[in-house]
Amino acid sequence: MGAKSQSLSLEGFTFEESWEEKRKRAEKIVEILMKTHPREKLLIGDPYRTLVHCIISQRMRDEVTYRVWEELFRRYKDIKTIASTPVEDMQEFLRKQGVGLWKTKGEWIVKASQLILEKYDGKVPDEVHELMKLPGIGRKCANIVLAYGFGRQAIPVDTHVNRISKRLGLAPPRVAPEKVEEYLTELIPKEKWIYVNHAMVDHGRSICRPINPKCEECPLKELCPYAKGLVKDEDIKGSGKKKKTAQS
Ligand code: SF4
Repeated sequence: MGAKSQSLSLEGFTFEESWEEKRKRAEKIVEILMKTHPREKLLIGDPYRTLVHCIISQRMRDEVTYRVWEELFRRYKDIKTIASTPVEDMQEFLRKQGVGLWKTKGEWIVKASQLILEKYDGKVPDEVHELMKLPGIGRKCANIVLAYGFGRQAIPVDTHVNRISKRLGLAPPRVAPEKVEEYLTELIPKEKWIYVNHAMVDHGRSICRPINPKCEECPLKELCPYAKGLVKDEDIKGSGKKKKTAQS
């Protein structure tokens, strides 16, 4: 484990615990989550398709996103075809598929594709700050591309990861998602980062739901300060978004 980032602090947590205790608890939590929510296929395995998937997915249900995404690639085939598609055509395609924010997403998909061809030689960049230069790609999507597209160790912080990390006291309740990512990458061993997003998303949908989490049946309840009344939902800040992106 590397040295603790200087910008991280134990201040702001609503209960006392040393860094060492927090690290040990974080490791146990991730091990339990990996067992409770296993997933064999962690990769889409194609950074470009992952990126397009992430843009479509904003404020969309998974099933709908997946259907539209499959249809999009059936129709447009590859990055070159998409980059040469008029923005209005892509917008119309998304609108007809029932995609919310179709105007913005249509423009992002075409323009991001053009930029990847022109500036990155047709290859999706594999660095978080380069990815964030693409239209519609914020930090969460950049990390999704790294984790699910490239198979790199990264922790995308979406609404589930943000909420659950704070309930579990792995990040202070008031910090922005970017900061949650810093705490998690500090506390969790790097070789497990890639599991955190999918396990917490599954956990957030099935057990640690936004309203009325099922703490009684949760395998993490012995390790969870929320279950012990030490963290409360009203302490938790949902989001610290600044840039308009394809984020949740
Ligand atoms: S014990 Fe409750 S708050 Fe804690 S992780 Fe489980 S469901 Fe979420």
